[in-house]
Amino acid sequence: MPEPRGLECSRCGRRAPTVAISTCPMCFTVVCQKCAHFAYGRTFCSSRCGEYFFHGDADDENDLSES
Ligand SMILES: [Zn+2]
Ligand SMILES: [Zn+2]
Repeated sequence: MPEPRGLECSRCGRRAPTVAISTCPMCFTVVCQKCAHFAYGRTFCSSRCGEYFFHGDADDENDLSES
C-alpha cells in the first residue's frame, strides 16, 4: 500500500515530504525547498513569480492612454 506521503517537486521531480514542499502562490507550482525561491516572506517557484507577486501585473509597461 503506497502511502501518498509527500509531493513531487515540479522543478526537480524529486519527491519530498509535504512539510518540505511549497506551493507557489502565483502559479501554484509545487516546489521543494531546494527549488523554492524565498521572497517577501513567501515561497515562490521562481524569482519571477516573486517579482510578479510583489509588483503585480506585468502589463505595466504599456500605459493605456484613455482619451
Ligand atoms: Zn525541487
Ligand atoms: Zn510560480
